[in-house]
Amino acid sequence: MLILVYNDDERLISLYDRFRSFMEGRYGTDELSFALLIFALLMNLIGGFFFFPLTIFSYLIYIFVFFRLFSKNFFARQKELGFYLGIKRQFTSFFRCIQMKIRDRKTLKYFRCPHCKQQLRAPRGKGKIAVTCQKCHQTFTTKT
Ligand SMILES: [Zn+2]
Repeated sequence: MLILVYNDDERLISLYDRFRSFMEGRYGTDELSFALLIFALLMNLIGGFFFFPLTIFSYLIYIFVFFRLFSKNFFARQKELGFYLGIKRQFTSFFRCIQMKIRDRKTLKYFRCPHCKQQLRAPRGKGKIAVTCQKCHQTFTTKT
């Protein structure tokens, strides 16, 4: 369907072109916007069923998503995206670590370096062993 509207200089253009020229130089969507939308939708649902103030909170998130969509400050929006991706990376590596520990629980022992807290692992059933940390190169003994 083609809808024609008047441009700023009185020329007839399609609504789509009008929208495209409006969005020019604006930030648009990114991964954070989609994540926020899903989160807001969830808050909306939970708020509707159990706890009303969450609904208001979800509307604030919707407003923020729209604000990001039309924003011209790319630098600030990229910074928000970077912050979000950093948190996401920490979460995924945390859960991947738990997944690995469960998978290898019979063959490997996981422990932390007492000096730098680096996560390390060694084969189980080797008795007392001397471990040299890969990160800080300190040596300590542990039971496996
Ligand atoms: Zn260490």
